[in-house]
Amino acid sequence: MMATLVNFKIDGKEYLAEEGTFILAAAKDNGVYIPSLCNFEGIKPKGSCRMCTVRVNGNLMTACTTRVFDRMEIVNMSDELEELRRGIVELMLTEGNHFCPSCEKSGFCELQALAYRYRISSPRFPYLSPDRPVESKNPKIMKDQNRCILCKRCIRAIKDENGKSLFAFKNRGYQVVISIDTELAGGISDELAQKAMDICPVGAILKKRNGFKVPIGERPFDKVEIGSEVGTMS
Ligand code: SF4
Repeated sequence: MMATLVNFKIDGKEYLAEEGTFILAAAKDNGVYIPSLCNFEGIKPKGSCRMCTVRVNGNLMTACTTRVFDRMEIVNMSDELEELRRGIVELMLTEGNHFCPSCEKSGFCELQALAYRYRISSPRFPYLSPDRPVESKNPKIMKDQNRCILCKRCIRAIKDENGKSLFAFKNRGYQVVISIDTELAGGISDELAQKAMDICPVGAILKKRNGFKVPIGERPFDKVEIGSEVGTMS
């Protein structure tokens, strides 16, 4: 059956997408970058980080969880939305402990790359400097809660052969942390450990014995701005 195409606009320009496509994916297919953090191609979108907030026919919506429809009018690039996104990045940077120079994900980290994109050198909010644990009991992976932005990518994507997640949320409210299922993750393969590290947008999950395989300066966001592989913002 032929897919139905819908016509929609981003910042006044017209584009086509298959009906039912999420805005973020439809924009990407058309070479338009919408900043995002919790979203990851191939896993169910969650809309938890709010970085991809756009205006859809005047209303604030998350682009990763909202599907395009015919004649939809989207605003992606505006001072209001860019300020909101910058604020989210600043809040994340100050809520946890992100020491980029000592992080193995520096240059791969999407939060750091967004901070570069928004030219954030000194966040306007006070640092909370929480005391959070580093867990290194697992033979293949370590988890640094200081860097976790609670995006749930690991919960949604890292599963065993029966579809059970190796990661889960523990506690409630501001005490929420990611926990590793010691039994399920005890025999984690090298491949899955690497996938967990790669899917984490920050350096909260690291595969052990992996340090500095790619030298600083040679890493993706050392060279190009995040989103440049997709296209422009409008
Ligand atoms: S550990 Fe990484 S992937 Fe998992 S919720 Fe935290 S930031 Fe997201």
